[in-house]
Amino acid sequence: MSSISESMLKYYNYDIVFAEIPDEVTLAVNITCCPNHCKGCHSPWLQQDRGEVLDSCAIDALIGRYGGQITCLCFMGGDSNPQEVEHLSVYIRSNYDLIKTAWYSGKPQLPVAIKTSSFDYIKIGEYQEKYGPLNKQTTNQRLYKMNARGEMENITSRFWK
Ligand code: SF4
Repeated sequence: MSSISESMLKYYNYDIVFAEIPDEVTLAVNITCCPNHCKGCHSPWLQQDRGEVLDSCAIDALIGRYGGQITCLCFMGGDSNPQEVEHLSVYIRSNYDLIKTAWYSGKPQLPVAIKTSSFDYIKIGEYQEKYGPLNKQTTNQRLYKMNARGEMENITSRFWK
C-alpha cells in the first residue's frame, strides 16, 4: 500500500510573484515532499512531508481567491508525483480559460509519460550551486515556453536582461 506522501501532492505555502515566469503574474505554489536533495537547497523544508493536500478542490479554492489577480499558476516542485502535477495542470487548463500553467521541476529531464503540451511553461534542471539559478548565465536550468506549434521554446535568456 502506498503512503499518502507517494499518492498525493501537498503544498507548504504560496505567493504571487512576478519574476518566475516572464510576462505573467504568477501564483507560485510551493510543493513539499521534494525528492531531489540538491546540495545547497534554498528551501530544505520543502523536502519534508508536510503541508496541505493539493488537489482539484485546493486548486479551485486558490483560483477562487486569487484568480482575478493572476495570469498563471506555477507548480513549484512536485517531482514526487509528476503525473499528479500534469493532472492538475490539465484540470486548470480545462476549467479556467484565463489561467496559464507552469511547472518548476527540479529534474534534468521530465518523465517520458508526461506530455509537455499539458503546460504553458516548464522549467527543468536541478539546482547546482556552481552553475547558479535561472538568472545566472552559467545556469544549468532552462525555462521553456510552449509555442503555438506545440514546440518547447527555450526562453531562459529572458532572465538575463
Ligand atoms: S528541487 Fe528545490 S526544494 Fe528540492 S532539493 Fe532541490 S533546491 Fe531544494
